[in-house]
Amino acid sequence: MKILEKTFSKNGAEITLLGSENSKNILVIGVFHGDEPQGKFLIENYIKNNKSKLLFIPCLNPDGINSNTRTNANGVDLNRNFPTNNWELTEKNEFYGGDTPASENETKFLVEIIDKYKPKIILTLHAPFKVVNYDGDAKNICEKISKIINYPVEANIGYPTPGSFGTYSGIENHIPTITLELDEKCPIEDLITPVNNIFQLLENY
Ligand SMILES: [Zn+2]
Repeated sequence: MKILEKTFSKNGAEITLLGSENSKNILVIGVFHGDEPQGKFLIENYIKNNKSKLLFIPCLNPDGINSNTRTNANGVDLNRNFPTNNWELTEKNEFYGGDTPASENETKFLVEIIDKYKPKIILTLHAPFKVVNYDGDAKNICEKISKIINYPVEANIGYPTPGSFGTYSGIENHIPTITLELDEKCPIEDLITPVNNIFQLLENY
């Protein structure tokens, strides 16, 4: 796969969008949260071993992975930094949404990609809740994903998420957006098959 777009994190790590000329407009994103590294491994493993027509951002938050923190190097939770109607200035804890909406380079990168590539489905990989959560019109595909990985479908994650990517993408931009919460206690090797099968489902969507 080729690097279609790239930017750099605060600490100088590359953040890339991978795909090809004939990629479908289906986008898979790993590692919003640096302490949830599973997505990067699973995406990189998949694209090494499969021809893919999907678009991938294997790791949105490389600085967070390197420091094993939820937030990026500025202490911002990227999944609270999107320019939504419900974005709010919060306390500076691990859910800090930034000084302003889309203050972070990682957020701007993703906003620009959505604007340019207009994905028709987006899958984001998180941990640890073992649910298939969604925003926008994604119930149908979530039921298929649920059957593959055996986690329940949950329309609501159960706590407020101002400035979240799902609100930005799924609710405000009407792109069916799936938040797959992987089981962090499951050995990563055991996640390869179900997650590959979910990617295959998207390849044929
Ligand atoms: Zn997460």
